[in-house]
Amino acid sequence: MSAPLLKVESLTKHYPLARVFLKRTTPVVRAVDDVSFSVEAGETLCIVGESGCGKSTVARLLMRMLQPTSGRVMIEGTDIAALGSHALRAWRRRMQMVFQDPYSSLNPRLTAEQIVTEPVENFERLSRRQRKALAADLLRKVGMSSEMMDRLPSEFSGGQRQRLGIARALALEPSLLIADEAVSALDVSVQAQILNLLLDLQEQMGIAYVFISHDLTVVQHIGDRVAVMYLGRIVEIGPCEALFDNPVHPYTEALIAAAPVPDPTRVRLKAPVDGEVPSPVNPPSGCSFHPRCPLAIERCRIDVPPLMPMPDGRTVACHVRAPNAPAQLSFEDSLRTTFMAQF
Ligand code: SF4
Repeated sequence: MSAPLLKVESLTKHYPLARVFLKRTTPVVRAVDDVSFSVEAGETLCIVGESGCGKSTVARLLMRMLQPTSGRVMIEGTDIAALGSHALRAWRRRMQMVFQDPYSSLNPRLTAEQIVTEPVENFERLSRRQRKALAADLLRKVGMSSEMMDRLPSEFSGGQRQRLGIARALALEPSLLIADEAVSALDVSVQAQILNLLLDLQEQMGIAYVFISHDLTVVQHIGDRVAVMYLGRIVEIGPCEALFDNPVHPYTEALIAAAPVPDPTRVRLKAPVDGEVPSPVNPPSGCSFHPRCPLAIERCRIDVPPLMPMPDGRTVACHVRAPNAPAQLSFEDSLRTTFMAQF
């Protein structure tokens, strides 16, 4: 079997804070903690979770816009987290990023032609004719007319600007595109157009996507697999359909329960989870979801649950729901678990 296009192993990013007077240890923000996953060529992996769960930090670590505290980011077998700036520059051709805000991610002084051809001109010199031909081709790929190439970003709508951002990302023909909340700043109808454009481009060019979003409807539309993050860790990862039809981790279940239902006649079977996400500076011991989890047992307060494979191909980190759940729950815990599982 060939190696995956992207393999992330134990990726960790901690930010040290200012040291507290008379305290021996320096507090750290655990933005990303021991995250591992892989992405095959032409596949879409979506990363979901509440604000502050670390999904955008993962995106920046994948692009080496941030240096990881530890862990590896392997692209086609090469660990880009360990490359020097010169070697990294060549690898940057293989992966590109589309940003959330189509308004601030484009240089307002450059024309559409300059914006979309700039990545190529960072690597090679283009004649005027080559630049025009490349710009026309890239604009056509994202459904825009070549007649628009002399316009400035301020002359485009939000959806057109995001198309320009995608065209710029495609200029170097990357094998991996990282989209960080790429449609969340757009109107719903424009979101659908951009998502369909991304799906068409994937079919034509075989690009893999890491698609970061808090919007489960968007994820359901575009994803092949989904990784659910909570407080810097992946708690469940698996095929999109299986995960939405039958979530295993209590947090995945809560996220899906909290998503808006477009059908007013449909009744929610489960209540969304209560409470706030704890601080990543001082996360709860054991499973960091335990203060909010209706199934929590004593062990959850002590041991961090590892990601365990399930028979249907997904992996889940939960002492109660994953196959390595404790063989012997206390009588009280087993009663509580059986009772809560029915709601
Ligand atoms: Fe809930 Fe325990 Fe599972 Fe964490 S490990 S999700 S606290 S049951």
